[in-house]
Amino acid sequence: MTRFFIVLLFVLMVICVYTIISQTLYRRYHSSVIIKGEKKHKIAITFDDGPHPVYTPKILDLFKLHEMKATFFIVGELGEKHPSILNRMIDEGHEVAIHHHRHVSAWTQTPWQLKRQIHQCAQVIKKVTNQKPLFYRPPWGHLNMSSLSMAKPYHLVIWTGIFQDWTLKTTKTALVQKLMRKVEDGAIFVLHDNGDTPGADEKAPEMTIAALEEFLPYLKQQGYESITMQQLMNQS
Ligand SMILES: [Zn+2]
Repeated sequence: MTRFFIVLLFVLMVICVYTIISQTLYRRYHSSVIIKGEKKHKIAITFDDGPHPVYTPKILDLFKLHEMKATFFIVGELGEKHPSILNRMIDEGHEVAIHHHRHVSAWTQTPWQLKRQIHQCAQVIKKVTNQKPLFYRPPWGHLNMSSLSMAKPYHLVIWTGIFQDWTLKTTKTALVQKLMRKVEDGAIFVLHDNGDTPGADEKAPEMTIAALEEFLPYLKQQGYESITMQQLMNQS
């Protein structure tokens, strides 16, 4: 019995080191994990989990109206389903980046499975848009011990602001206030253009869009502009 518990404890420790401990150390101390940019009066508004056939085009309309740019961290299999939306993103000056091929956590993936998730998604982007993606953000921001090496040559991006816009428990007014509070030079915001992800509310992007209708004019009024990740990190 004692031996069983020692083995169990050992297995749990290995799992913790592979997932949460590696994630915490990388996100806090590793210089190649991008948390923030440095450009004055610029931020990067980014969207995870799309493209969605209804919500993503509405977001594109809104960004066109306010002459702002966004970065879309797409799910590869959804990109395959909606290639015209990816091409519209590129045509309108936005950036397409990697989430995973399917929306799975790096905590559940072996290093090789993780590599496949990242590179398969990158392949979809290259095939559909003829552009090479530069940035990768893992679903839920989860990293495992192999994430940095498996993500190469892509730059791993986290965020300065995440706003619980995936749940309708967050009201539009609360979301607008949260967004306003987090505006600073070089900020990287994460929002979501798809509510079909596990743990999200299907209609939550409607609230995100309503909040952006109010937030984007405010941003401009404050002398700020949303640009792509490439522009924020001087990669273009
Ligand atoms: Zn996601």
